[in-house]
Order: sequence, then structure tokens, then C-alpha cells
Amino acid sequence: MSTVRKYQCMCGSFEAQVTGEPVLACWCHCKTCRKQTGAAMQLGVFQNFEVLKGDDQLIKYASTSGAFRNSCQNCGSFCYKVLPDGVKVAPLGALEPKIKPTCHIFVKDKGSQDVMFPELPQHDAFP
Ligand SMILES: [Zn+2]
Ligand SMILES: [Zn+2]
Repeated sequence: MSTVRKYQCMCGSFEAQVTGEPVLACWCHCKTCRKQTGAAMQLGVFQNFEVLKGDDQLIKYASTSGAFRNSCQNCGSFCYKVLPDGVKVAPLGALEPKIKPTCHIFVKDKGSQDVMFPELPQHDAFP
């Protein structure tokens, strides 16, 4: 049976669930992730993503190349990202049971302070 993981933003206005394992679990070093969080982000790309509540509580920011970053308007939490093809990306750090990133992406954009795990593959875009 597939694992179901629910997560909320910090204030609880937004809630979503992902079912099954991510098709990609990564450290994203792109500029927008670093600006949003101050660091690289742990992101999971999920085929099976469902908003349970609070989609009307989100600020939708049109990010690079047709992607949207959705954050809670009440607490500022990053809630999810929508890629140009409609696939949803969840913050791995909010999910239980834990999922470990298996690669680094947008390494060409990484900050000099970013911690890298040398055993993980590195890509300059989505693999
Ligand atoms: Zn919130
Ligand atoms: Zn990123």
C-alpha cells in the first residue's frame, strides 16, 4: 500500500497530502529557492498530490519559466510549487515519514555556502 503523507503550513491554514513516493527527491539550489528560504530547499516531486484545505489562503507567485510558488498568506510558509507541466512539488522537510533527497539540482546556481553531499548525483536542471 502506498504511504500517505499529510502536511500543513506553520499556521495550519493550508493542508495537503501526497500519496506514494516522490518521482524526484532533491536538494534544489536554484536562486528562487535560495531567496525564498535563505538556503537550498529539499523538494519532492509527486505524481499524487492533493490539497485538502486552504488553497484560497495562498499567495501564488509566478516564478521562473511558467512555474508557480504558493505560500500561505497568513504565516508565509512555502506550501507547494507547480511546475509548467502541472506537476506539484512539496517541501520534503514538512513530510513524515521522512524522505531523504537523492540528488542535487540546479547546482550551477548554488550559493557558495550551500552544503553539498558528495555521494549524491549533481544536475544543473531537473534530471
Ligand atoms: Zn499558514
Ligand atoms: Zn529551486
